[in-house]
Amino acid sequence: MTAAEEWCAAFEPRTVHYYLDKTIADFGDRPAADFLGKVWTYREYGELVDRLAAGLQARGVKPGVHVGLCLPNTPYYTLFYFAILKAGGTVVNFNPLYVERELAFQSRDADVRIMVTMDLKMIFDKVEAVRQENVLDTIIVCPMAPILPFPKNILFKLFKRKELASVPDSPAHVHYDTLMSVGAKPAPVAIDPQTAVAVLQYTGGTTGVPKGAMLTHANLSANIEQMRCVFGKAKPGEEKLLCVLPFFHVFAMTVAQNLAVVLGAEMVLQPRFELKALLDVIKRKRVTLFPGVPTIYTAINNSPLTQNYDLSSINICLSGGAPLPVEVKESFEKLTGCVLVEGYGLTEASPVCAVNPLDRPSKPGSIGTPVPGTTPEFRDLTDLSKPVAPGEKGELCLKGPQVMAGYWKRPDATAESIEPSGFLHTGDVGYQDEDGYIYLVDRIKDLILCSGYNVYPRVIEEAIYQNEAVEECIVIAIPDTYRGQSPKAFVKLKEGHELTADELKTFLKGHLSAIELPREIEFRTQLPKTMVGKLSKKELVEEEAAKRAAA
Ligand code: AMP
Repeated sequence: MTAAEEWCAAFEPRTVHYYLDKTIADFGDRPAADFLGKVWTYREYGELVDRLAAGLQARGVKPGVHVGLCLPNTPYYTLFYFAILKAGGTVVNFNPLYVERELAFQSRDADVRIMVTMDLKMIFDKVEAVRQENVLDTIIVCPMAPILPFPKNILFKLFKRKELASVPDSPAHVHYDTLMSVGAKPAPVAIDPQTAVAVLQYTGGTTGVPKGAMLTHANLSANIEQMRCVFGKAKPGEEKLLCVLPFFHVFAMTVAQNLAVVLGAEMVLQPRFELKALLDVIKRKRVTLFPGVPTIYTAINNSPLTQNYDLSSINICLSGGAPLPVEVKESFEKLTGCVLVEGYGLTEASPVCAVNPLDRPSKPGSIGTPVPGTTPEFRDLTDLSKPVAPGEKGELCLKGPQVMAGYWKRPDATAESIEPSGFLHTGDVGYQDEDGYIYLVDRIKDLILCSGYNVYPRVIEEAIYQNEAVEECIVIAIPDTYRGQSPKAFVKLKEGHELTADELKTFLKGHLSAIELPREIEFRTQLPKTMVGKLSKKELVEEEAAKRAAA
């Protein structure tokens, strides 16, 4: 048996809410969450979760019922997440900044008829419009006022919107308080962790159309246990974990919320990324664990505000979701004295698959070694069923207990992405060194085919980041009549820095081969980002295509 197979044989799948109950038993008096200064203990959290679960059951939530969560990072998110699971239902995460069309599409596709949201008008009005299209039956409305320890201004400032929706209780609108008044405990529900879907997590996946990845209790509990191994150095019951990445994204759901719960850590909830508020809360709470995405660490590194803050409480940071430029890692570690390691995951794998181990020096530029129980295989890009020779580049395929059960109602897409052998095709290209560390070179769909060669945008981006004037960059393919495709770079400079396209090209000549040199360089003051803060190519690819079609 391989070490991964041994780990899987010993792994005991649990329900996700088992971990909350266990932490309440072990650390009931410890703080569970801080929301803008107001604190709840794990015991208090547990009582609220039980009451909500009883209320949800009275509204028909049971195994097979999908409940939408359309909430920013507030205590409500975590309370409802665990209450839905305890009631036996499935959580479907929605981005609260989705427009009406996206909310309606996902509700229909996921068979969601009950949606939990807040009375913040900018979110509630969209959900209500979707209900009025007969897509939803019930909206559960969480009031902002009771969770705010101070005048509402700070939260309003964070959302940049002031209005609250006034929603009377009705058959279609159920208030948080109404749910809470049903009973103190839910009826116990028998759940088979192996088959019960805990979360339906939407993703563009490798083929673009949004699809719901079915993450079972066993998948999520595997990733919780895998993360517990990775974070073996953390001190149970004592950590303060910064939750700034939105919980509706799989990375934060697992590596912020679920990891905090299993460690008995205090979740320091930030409803939105705003740099000054983030630095204030790190200082106020003496945050120790900080999962993030590269753009957040970059923003902290480069802001003049940072020098006014003591960030030395931070011990461990895990960056995921996108490549972490080596320069960003090194500057952030120097600034705070913490260890910032890079990890890798994807929605379809609950999500974490590889992390740089914390007990050994990490290899900058690598996504680390596979987490326990996970087997990687690299496949030939011209025949994806064939493994490449050790050390060669190929599509990263992964097998492990965290790999999803499949896509909701899409057996064809499931069959395309998961082989009968259990290997998941990630759509990412990479290789493994002799020590087992994995390096990603790019996503298959982002590769630039230049004069018959594969050019990897990520290699070009890494080279551009080595110029000290650069804050962020994105490289995409543009059509080239002579070569087929060529690279184009979009660059955002650091504040107060100047650089011309010619100077950057000259700089890059020392770092890249001729074929990799960007044919075009465009400077921008902002680059597009996804909701979780990853730099996003999609908008730039569309813009370029539209520009060229119009020319
Ligand atoms: P998502 O399912 O939205 O979480 O996106 C998963 C994708 O993010 C992966 O397939 C990778 O392409 C990318 N990704 C995640 N972590 C990393 C990383 N450390 N380096 C490069 N790409 C990453």
